[in-house]
Amino acid sequence: MGKLDVAILRYLTGEDFRVLTAVEMGMKNHELVPGSLVASIANLRHGGVHKLMKELCKHRLLTYERGKQYDGYRLTNAGYDYLALKALANRKVISSFGNQIGVGKESNIYIVADEDHNPLCLKLHRLGRTCFRNIKDKRDYHAHRNRASWLYLSRISATKEFAYMKALYDRGFPVPKPIDFNRHCVIMELVRGGPLTHVTSVADPEALYDELMNLIVRLGNCGVIHGDFNEFNIMIDEDNHPVIIDFPQMVSTSHPNAEVYFERDVRCVREFFKRRFGFESSLYPALRDLRRAERLDAAVACSGYRRAEDLDDRLMREMGIGLEESDDDESDEEFADAVDERSPAYTDEELAALRQQVDISIQNDKRNDVIDNLTT
Ligand code: ADP
Ligand code: MG
Repeated sequence: MGKLDVAILRYLTGEDFRVLTAVEMGMKNHELVPGSLVASIANLRHGGVHKLMKELCKHRLLTYERGKQYDGYRLTNAGYDYLALKALANRKVISSFGNQIGVGKESNIYIVADEDHNPLCLKLHRLGRTCFRNIKDKRDYHAHRNRASWLYLSRISATKEFAYMKALYDRGFPVPKPIDFNRHCVIMELVRGGPLTHVTSVADPEALYDELMNLIVRLGNCGVIHGDFNEFNIMIDEDNHPVIIDFPQMVSTSHPNAEVYFERDVRCVREFFKRRFGFESSLYPALRDLRRAERLDAAVACSGYRRAEDLDDRLMREMGIGLEESDDDESDEEFADAVDERSPAYTDEELAALRQQVDISIQNDKRNDVIDNLTT
């Protein structure tokens, strides 16, 4: 798909939103959610849920699929986008949509605008959908063995990005101002300028090089490593200063592989400057030179931060999905086969809990997402 059909945002109702949220909740445990279960979780007073689901399928926000053991509904990418964007529109964070300005490895980037027509940047995180294998070796993302985990992986990625961006912004780092987030969507300031990879020459390469190395050191002194500090994630603004973006992979300087990550960030900048500007310096920082000033890694519970449950674990727990160790020899095909063995029979208690989660989710969607409760 890729394209956002934003007209849908206008004519779908609160009941549609509730039905989609019910499917979203049902997908915590099952990739396909039987219609009767959706109706039960949505708990809408006057029936007609099946008709609503049919309409939502027509708009491709849901699909109805035949499973091995039973048939059911599944939220599509567009359906998940709809939930997040509708929540952000209801909160009046965004009110119109513009062009797509970027496609990253694991994201789509759009220009959006608030009610006063101020342009903003929307980042839609899309993880685990295209190729599960790419993320399989990452311990951070050993979620449920469920093809529905793209939902949670994308959501975790967006939540982490917002948490890191806010922590950095609050400490005066040159990062886009974080505005709000919901599910897999992050709304942030739109950076005026372009990625460093588009810059063919600079007046003073040494000054920019120093500025970037100082940023790596400043981050390190706060206990964090960007982890993907390269010409694609360094924007150059209109005043020719760097603005750093793309944070989901940030790690703590206490991470067991911190040195590898730190050196790689430094090397990326060095090699780019040599290649692009013919600039080389013998001055570059090392992890052991850092002077710890503040524990931002502790505040945000960065991945790899010791003695605390890290943010990944915490988000997984809050989303009700377990961290499972994977057997590396297991193939993706077997993965798929392992899903939906069991038909989704819920006890009355489980159903009541799911209904309550729908209510809580719909309430939360009305408030701006607060990251304070994610930081310690
Ligand atoms: P990914 O995780 O997919 O690499 P990024 O966050 O790096 O996504 O964004 C991809 C591209 O989108 C960037 O290289 C940049 O060109 C553009 N972009 C991202 N964030 C912003 C922003 N706040 N303002 C302007 N452009 C942005
Ligand atoms: Mg990037």
